[in-house]
Amino acid sequence: MKHKARKRFGQNFLNDPDIIARIIGAINLAVDDQVIEIGPGKAAITRPLLERLDSLDVVELDRDLIPLLAGIDQTGKLHIHQADALNFDFCQLVRTGKQARIVGNLPYNISTPLLFHLFVQHCIADMHFMLQKEVVLRLAASPGTKQYGRLSVMAQYYCEITPLFEIGPECFDPAPKVTSAFVKLTPKPLHQLTARNMNKLGQVVSMAFSQRRKTLRNALREIATVEEMEAVGINPGSRAENLAVSDFIALGNHLDD
Ligand code: SAH
Repeated sequence: MKHKARKRFGQNFLNDPDIIARIIGAINLAVDDQVIEIGPGKAAITRPLLERLDSLDVVELDRDLIPLLAGIDQTGKLHIHQADALNFDFCQLVRTGKQARIVGNLPYNISTPLLFHLFVQHCIADMHFMLQKEVVLRLAASPGTKQYGRLSVMAQYYCEITPLFEIGPECFDPAPKVTSAFVKLTPKPLHQLTARNMNKLGQVVSMAFSQRRKTLRNALREIATVEEMEAVGINPGSRAENLAVSDFIALGNHLDD
């Protein structure tokens, strides 16, 4: 079936067998894993996943791709959900005693909001994603680097981040303008998520980085006093990029008291 790639849906289809094999190898599947693929597209990753699994759920927004996807399965193992991953309830699919493994060559235009949506679905064992390399660098960035920002702090609050390998534009059709990278995110156990109020943590992080060249004394002026920063060991003369994730959590919790 002919299908024209749509920019609106962030469609760049993988067409390099070596990269597809590398992706499947990195995920390291067991036959009874509960895998949910986001954005299966024309089934580049879906087919090899299906070969290795008893059951596979896929979430695809583009209605025009659904017949093509339905056509790849004669076994009844593939469960197709025509839906927007941005507001899809992933946990509802998870079978008793299981945790979901999420996989996807994500539409790059929605990757950040999609990650934030997934961070709060507490039924996920791990996530393997293809993203823009630049987004992977931001996810994994350490304090003191220019990539370290709101996305780094929030992602590292919820997950361990493991960048795996890069993929050039030539591995896709159509070729995207940017280099891509494959990354693994492993959600932390709930007892390690120690922020008492996520809205407060989010507010502190957003304000601190919205004027990242300013000192924290100035950037956070409206929500935290110098004394409140010092009470949790933060130097008000430092900048957002100097703070560890744990510093943001400590300040958020102190302000929420
Ligand atoms: N996995 C395929 C396709 C990647 S392109 C491959 O590697 O070749 C990204 C895919 O995500 C497309 O199929 C696109 O239609 C789908 N998509 C875009 N926005 C989506 C959304 N909000 N929810 C679910 N799927 C979406």
